[in-house]
Amino acid sequence: MTSGPQRELFGTRSVDWMKDAACKDHPYPDAFFPVGPGAHAGPVRIFCGNCPVREQCLDYGLMENYGIWGGTSERERRRIRRERRSPKPPTHCRQGHPLTSENTFVQNKGSIPGCRECKNAQARAHQRRKRLAS
Ligand code: SF4
Ligand SMILES: [Zn+2]
Repeated sequence: MTSGPQRELFGTRSVDWMKDAACKDHPYPDAFFPVGPGAHAGPVRIFCGNCPVREQCLDYGLMENYGIWGGTSERERRRIRRERRSPKPPTHCRQGHPLTSENTFVQNKGSIPGCRECKNAQARAHQRRKRLAS
């Protein structure tokens, strides 16, 4: 099994989940591996909708180019991998303040923008502590 960032990006090679797969007794396993131009796996995805191991299957399938995994097509997984490689910047700080241009500051060139509201709150707390200490 892979671990760390590699796993988050491209899934896992664990296969324990396969025994619980909703499609494991499907009479035509090939139906999950549609090939050729125009091939689509719409009908078999009905199985994925109620599958108890859908998440694990997708995790595994992110390393697979071919077939339907976790209810996703090859094209959909390519998109997921692309998105995971370049995650969108967060819209809110950890305290839930919106990271708008007015509410953010950049400490050093290239660093992740910080939350102005949090920074100000920290500064106020610092002032308060100083006042109490003196
Ligand atoms: S998510 Fe779909 S392809 Fe994956 S195990 Fe379940 S039924 Fe099979
Ligand atoms: Zn904040």
